[in-house]
Amino acid sequence: CGVFGIYGDPQAALKSYWGTFSLQHRGQESAGLAVLHEDAITVNKGMGLVTEALKVEQESQRIGHAAIGHVRYSTTGESSLVNAQPLLMKTRFGLLALGQNGNLVNGESLRERLESQGAIFQGTTDSEVLAHLIARSAEPSFYDALKESLRLLEGGFAFTVLTPQALYGARDVHGIRPLALGQTKEGAYILASESCAFDVVGARYVRDIEPGELVRINDDGIETDRFVEKKSERALCAFEMIYFARPDSRMEGQSTHVVRRRLGQILAQEAPARADVVVGVPDSSIPAAMGYAQASGLPFDFGLVKNRYVARTFIAPSQALRESAVQMKLSAVRDVVFGKRVILVDDSLVRGTTSRHLVQLLRQAGATEVHMRIASPPYTDPCHYGIDTSRATELAARNMNIEEIRTMVGADSLAYLSLQGLKTGLGQQGWCMACFGAGYPVPLEEQPVLPLMQ
Ligand code: SF4
Ligand code: MG
Repeated sequence: CGVFGIYGDPQAALKSYWGTFSLQHRGQESAGLAVLHEDAITVNKGMGLVTEALKVEQESQRIGHAAIGHVRYSTTGESSLVNAQPLLMKTRFGLLALGQNGNLVNGESLRERLESQGAIFQGTTDSEVLAHLIARSAEPSFYDALKESLRLLEGGFAFTVLTPQALYGARDVHGIRPLALGQTKEGAYILASESCAFDVVGARYVRDIEPGELVRINDDGIETDRFVEKKSERALCAFEMIYFARPDSRMEGQSTHVVRRRLGQILAQEAPARADVVVGVPDSSIPAAMGYAQASGLPFDFGLVKNRYVARTFIAPSQALRESAVQMKLSAVRDVVFGKRVILVDDSLVRGTTSRHLVQLLRQAGATEVHMRIASPPYTDPCHYGIDTSRATELAARNMNIEEIRTMVGADSLAYLSLQGLKTGLGQQGWCMACFGAGYPVPLEEQPVLPLMQ
């Protein structure tokens, strides 16, 4: 998912529309905007893309000085309008709109506890859990209730919360999911999953929200706090850098494009192949393919083109839909690959659906050999923090060795980036690489005890 928030801007609704639109790649199931005008918060939301769920003419006329926006793809909770965000709730503290990216590992158990205490849930998202925790907190003020509730959440998350008084942003204690702070020329603060959202509204990137940090933005400016005292080790999702985030976004001071190119360079050193041309899978693998070509001295070319109107395939909820989406999505450029030994670079291989199809496409277009190179390590462990690869049974590298995967995808050779290569490419400490077998930063069974509720 993608979250956006802005406070203190007369064009809050329209800017949130554009900001949320720039995060479209993070979710295509539903989109929505909550806008604060005087003491009222109203929500527009719908299924599908931002342009389907919202109308720009309408948003440009919506009056308000603060807003939050959301794009969703489901990791937990089904794809339906009740689960579309922002959620709007009324608690004893007043109105509250809420947008979330990520996944709670204790979402289910918190929900069960809350239900046993009488909470009634409208949908099936984790985000509603936070709202109910706040509503049922014994703390006297909204701020303390929010803080206490955030403390109970385990997993990878970034939240934006809008009340008639303020905009809040919070990020999980490990910083697994990203959240950044920006500022417009006029001084209004913005929160967004990725810095690309600042660029589209003419704002600048200020910094990343810290793991475990809670910020409050209101008429007095910005205030920073922590909802957990103890600092945990940072573990930003490596997959954001590998695939998920846009190439023009920066995270923790690094450009995702530059990191991807570096991963391709390291891959070329680790796993060279005799070939004539290097081809990347558009769009997310182009930087890695360019890096591979640079380091290997082979020419890079566009051997595959993408129909940009087909949504990201993994977001399609079933395997059958995913397969037909993959078919529609990419075509081979015959004149680039005909009679050539092709190195095909992809950023990741999760289920293998994409790779198998692409190898076939290249062969049909006349490639004499296809050498598959993956710019991340074997994806062996399901993600529990908000990237949708949840079922272990579907993960190719969990169930097959590399030779078996090579046979399945039909390539002449197959090699992955090593875990050490990934670490070198990412350049700093502090990454979650759990899906590559490096261990889960948040234990999956950890379940904090709920305090007594009113
Ligand atoms: Fe990202 Fe993988 Fe960690 Fe999930 S398990 S947060 S996809 S690095
Ligand atoms: Mg891809």
